[in-house]
Amino acid sequence: MNETTILAEALAFHGHRCWASAAGVRLGLAAMEALGVPRAGAKQLHAVIETGEHHGGTCFGDGIQFTTGCTFGKGNIEKTGEGKFAVTLVDKAANRAVRVAYRPTLQPQIKASAFMQKRAAGVPPTQIPEDEQMEVVTLIWDAPAEQIMTVGPVQPREWSEPEEVVRFLVCPGCGELVAEPYARVAEGEIVCAACSGYPR
Ligand SMILES: [Zn+2]
Ligand SMILES: [Zn+2]
Repeated sequence: MNETTILAEALAFHGHRCWASAAGVRLGLAAMEALGVPRAGAKQLHAVIETGEHHGGTCFGDGIQFTTGCTFGKGNIEKTGEGKFAVTLVDKAANRAVRVAYRPTLQPQIKASAFMQKRAAGVPPTQIPEDEQMEVVTLIWDAPAEQIMTVGPVQPREWSEPEEVVRFLVCPGCGELVAEPYARVAEGEIVCAACSGYPR
């Protein structure tokens, strides 16, 4: 997949076009290039992103998920909740990591864009015309790397993988599938947490 295709597919996955998801794509690709690793099809990589909750630009995380293959579903991504736009990508097998941070050089242009003016006024991104969405994406996409990111040194980072339990049981209470470590014993039966009646 070439980089333009990656951007198009990442934005399609994300649901709209915005500067933060595009920045996530570029920083994700840069982190992989620094480590010399491909996208994680399984859990070869682990990403730590520094965005938080309920603030502008959290879309950054979708660009990171799409490019690196570190996803919520695989469980190989975490958020530090600092409200910042940086990723630390860990190459588990090699016990090395790199931190790539967004550089806000273009923020005056982004803030002045029609897209961000409307976002600041509370317009949802999907209700902003496509050409205005693309204007901020293009700003990020066409910028020289050094203008929009700082790639830190590749450094040692010890990794020990927690054991993955690949066993499930069908709860006799509700008939639904539950991963074994989450099952409970209630009145002599092995059930899911919801059916146990215990506080969660
Ligand atoms: Zn977005
Ligand atoms: Zn149940």
